[in-house]
Amino acid sequence: MKFLSIQTIDEAKSALYENFTLTPGFEKIGLSEALGRVLAEDFRANQDVPPFEKSRMDGYAVIAEDTFGADETRPVKLEKIGAIAAGESSEIVMNRGQAVGIATGAPIPAGANAVVMVEYTSTSHDWVDVQQAVVPGENISAAASDIKSGEMLLQAGTVLASRHLGILAAQGIDQVQVYEKPKIALLSTGNELVEPGRKLAQGKIYDINTYSIAGRVSECGGTPIILGRVEDCRDTLKSSLKDALENFDIVITSGGTSKGAGDLLSDVTDSLGKPGVIVHGVNIKPGKPVIISVIDKGIVFGLPGNPLSALMAFNVFASPVIRRLSGLGESRVEAVSAKSALPLQNPGGRHLFLLVRLDRDSDATLLASPVAKDSGAITALNEADGYIQIPANTVRIEKNEPVEVVLFEGRSQRLY
Ligand code: AMP
Ligand code: MG
Repeated sequence: MKFLSIQTIDEAKSALYENFTLTPGFEKIGLSEALGRVLAEDFRANQDVPPFEKSRMDGYAVIAEDTFGADETRPVKLEKIGAIAAGESSEIVMNRGQAVGIATGAPIPAGANAVVMVEYTSTSHDWVDVQQAVVPGENISAAASDIKSGEMLLQAGTVLASRHLGILAAQGIDQVQVYEKPKIALLSTGNELVEPGRKLAQGKIYDINTYSIAGRVSECGGTPIILGRVEDCRDTLKSSLKDALENFDIVITSGGTSKGAGDLLSDVTDSLGKPGVIVHGVNIKPGKPVIISVIDKGIVFGLPGNPLSALMAFNVFASPVIRRLSGLGESRVEAVSAKSALPLQNPGGRHLFLLVRLDRDSDATLLASPVAKDSGAITALNEADGYIQIPANTVRIEKNEPVEVVLFEGRSQRLY
């Protein structure tokens, strides 16, 4: 049990993974529900696509050699011996000098090796005039030209997009094995909080964290379950958390994590089960007063109330857990090299996540400037393109010193 004894990120993460085991769940769902879900197993082709040789055009199936030398002035006359529509199967066997009418998608009859587009033909009675030469294979999709049976098509961990659903459908698959979306219960604590949409009384503020954290949970592949707001009252908080943990393995709270009189989370979670509080306080800025409590098989991430601190603490600790459970795995961070536009100070001995905006200087190098906003400003995130990390043991970064900027999603376009 640790009450605000500051740990490093690595120490806190080890405590987390020593005390909490991650076991993703899986489920089979219908193809039409699978968009955006994470495929749980590798998928190999079980059949050829197309399953048969088919026509790419409306026209006539021919033996290419019969058409050699044909053009508008010297058409070749072929005998029309039948027609095949899309969806039909045909027993027709073609010989030299013959043609078969064929629709786009219809199977090529035995003996034919090319298709002449209808635009280059004219017909009278049982005869077709072919006004263009074709080469063997022309206007035909070979069997298995798209997908070959046995070929690896989609790997486990693929986030299913429309193009992947098309591939699965082409294989006749109607059910897919995907990762379950972990359900994450969200509770915001604080007497001052009001649900958006209601009127604000004097001294109250709107509850930001419920919504920004719910958004982050979804971005990490989880399903946020919004339980609402709880007052700073020991008994209410305790019973709300108890209820939440009976129904959900992962509960994320915000607020009440420091050492003030109204800060009840560490006491309350510690009294709910074993081992109780495993992390209280991490040397990050923002996000220091974070609490992680493991309660039997469940876990409570107690994020600080300050919305920016809550998001940073979420990103460091909760996001990797949710992403692993949802199958998304480690987030791929996009980073760019830049120069610091100003000297930067990190006097507190904490690992600093500093929000920065990127601009180009006259020789096109990227310059990172800290976003000049109060540390509680929720708009700071929107103004920033990303953040730089200054380790706890680095006190100062000089002007023009190289820095690495981790970009927020969608911000890279702004740079090009
Ligand atoms: P706390 O961690 O409870 O001491 O809260 C720190 C600061 O964050 C206070 O100014 C709170 O009013 C504010 N705060 C706490 N929870 C929220 C929330 N859900 N939405 C917006 N601000 C909050
Ligand atoms: Mg509070």
